Amino acid sequence: MGKCDLCPRACNIDRAQGVGFCGMGAELFAARAGLHFWEEPCIAGYGGAGTVFFTGCNLRCVYCQNREISAGKKGKEITVTRLREIFHELIFDGAECIDLVTPTHYADRIAEALAAEKLPVPVVYNCGGYEKTETLRMLEGLVDVYLPDYKYAHPALAKSLSAAPDYPAVALAALKEMYRQTGDWTTDEDGLLQKGVLARHLVLPGYIENSLDCIDILTDTFTEEQILLSVMSQYTPPPFALPQPSLNRRLTQQEYDRVTDYLYLLGRENIYVQELSSAKEEYTPEFDFSGI
Ligand code: SF4
Repeated sequence: MGKCDLCPRACNIDRAQGVGFCGMGAELFAARAGLHFWEEPCIAGYGGAGTVFFTGCNLRCVYCQNREISAGKKGKEITVTRLREIFHELIFDGAECIDLVTPTHYADRIAEALAAEKLPVPVVYNCGGYEKTETLRMLEGLVDVYLPDYKYAHPALAKSLSAAPDYPAVALAALKEMYRQTGDWTTDEDGLLQKGVLARHLVLPGYIENSLDCIDILTDTFTEEQILLSVMSQYTPPPFALPQPSLNRRLTQQEYDRVTDYLYLLGRENIYVQELSSAKEEYTPEFDFSGI
């Protein structure tokens, strides 16, 4: 790898010599691989998603739900060959798909792993949405399903909560590129997503206007035949106090209903919603290097 500009941070550093904003050098690091049942039903199905949790992240969300591995750098080094073996082990265990979590800063190595052979299950690129379109093009034909976040509608909020003021525009351009590659979403006879884009939005307590504005952007850009939407209620406050008071509590039912009601008012039916009572830490598995 030369100087890294895989993501919009464009650090332009040689990752063999040091680390960029994502905190990771040239080698692949992952903290867990296993069947994960907490993704949307069209991703997890009955067998579970064959999830690989990568170490490091190109965002700095103050409320990160996986901070142990995103900023804490907990992980084990693996080769591209080992990553391919992990895919096969997950498929052998019954995985409905290969679910690559926070893959952005390893996109080149992941492309290498996927290019070797076509896997018998869909490959899901599960990312924060802060992606560079040129890097996404590297994955064309290798990724079947994109599962990006769309977190913020406004630069000031994206700056204060994720240190990425250009997030709204960059993530929207990324979603358009993802859709260009996959086309309209399709499922198999069991309702499992075979190709397409499923955009996620985590509703943050106290930031409901942001959620409504994100929905406006997504629904103005894509029809429901084009991309699927998932509105998530699972926000879990971090174990330390944040300066943003509302982020130190869970989402209320009233807040979540305002967002989902808005989508229904817009006539959207193909949306995934969550029970509020399901907002538990269990969405975050143990990062104990199992399966790695
Ligand atoms: S992948 Fe990491 S090193 Fe490369 S540009 Fe992004 S943040 Fe910087």
